[in-house]
Amino acid sequence: MDLQLSPLNLLGTASAQRPTVIAGPCSAETEEQVMNTAAQLAGKGVKIFRAGIWKPRTKPGGFEGIGKDGLPWLNRVQQELGMKVATEVATKSHVEAALEAGIDVLWIGARTAANPFAMQEIADALAGHDVPVLVKNPVNPDLELWIGGLERINQAGITRLGVIHRGFSTYEKKLYRNLPMWHIPIELHRRLPGLPIFCDPSHIGGARELVAPLCQQAMDLGFDGLIVECHCNPDAAWSDAKQQVRPDVLDFILDRLVIRNTAASTESLDVLRHQIDEIDNSLIEMLAKRMRISREIGQYKREHDMTVVQTTRYNEILDKRGAQGVLCGMSADFIKAVFEAVHEESVRQQIEIMNKN
Ligand code: PEP
Ligand code: MN
Repeated sequence: MDLQLSPLNLLGTASAQRPTVIAGPCSAETEEQVMNTAAQLAGKGVKIFRAGIWKPRTKPGGFEGIGKDGLPWLNRVQQELGMKVATEVATKSHVEAALEAGIDVLWIGARTAANPFAMQEIADALAGHDVPVLVKNPVNPDLELWIGGLERINQAGITRLGVIHRGFSTYEKKLYRNLPMWHIPIELHRRLPGLPIFCDPSHIGGARELVAPLCQQAMDLGFDGLIVECHCNPDAAWSDAKQQVRPDVLDFILDRLVIRNTAASTESLDVLRHQIDEIDNSLIEMLAKRMRISREIGQYKREHDMTVVQTTRYNEILDKRGAQGVLCGMSADFIKAVFEAVHEESVRQQIEIMNKN
């Protein structure tokens, strides 16, 4: 289904030097923190201020947002600093309170986007209003679910729609807090080319030092904008402290961004290279997983007094993988060479286990 879209019409739309930037703290904590952060960002030319008023937290007992008492602080940001303000809505009552307060931009969080009931409730509450809505990707890597959520909001009459790519949850925490899986927003862009895409480097990276490279990566992939968590005193933040940067740091990062001409023919090359990088990362992770299992097998062989190399099993693996490889358009020799190398490393790791005291 096609979406009915119209321009987001946000202030501070992209220029040749800078993309559209939304910045502000993970959470509105105090009036002073909101005003201090917003004033510094306004001083750096940021036009759209973000702050979470209602916070979805993984565990109970943490800071769950200041709630609607914080909305007048965002009104001060609008009035005194001339910025537009954005906040997260997750329920009908959030939508009603945010619209009542004249919040300029609403976003829907990743946990909410994964729940069609919640998306429908929000869509129903939005019906009849003209407000820009940005939908974050669902926490799970499900493009259809993401598009389904967008359709619900669009069917309620919201045409000023955009999306935020914030990465996908994983059980094993690696370099990223949430895996970027760039091919998913790239595929979304291919399917819905008119839909503006923002990147949220703060939630993808989960760490300050990853904000700059992730911003650049998003620009290289032709994203339209960035939403970055910024705090006047990040270490003291009440939520997501590790991933927030100071406003002057954001300014430094934005100044150094290389904005390429997306019309240039290298765009598709960059996209493809990113896909290769991602696949290589997954290959390494998969190989590491395979080696861990090999070591467990080594442990079993040791406990049962078995030899490390069991030739029948080895031949079976090589034959099977060779045939699978040919079916997938690769030469049997290539697959054989790859699996011989993998097997050699497995044997080395198992011998290590055997020889452990
Ligand atoms: C946020 O933007 O502060 C937030 C809660 O993000 P997400 O829904 O992506 O976890
Ligand atoms: Mn956050």
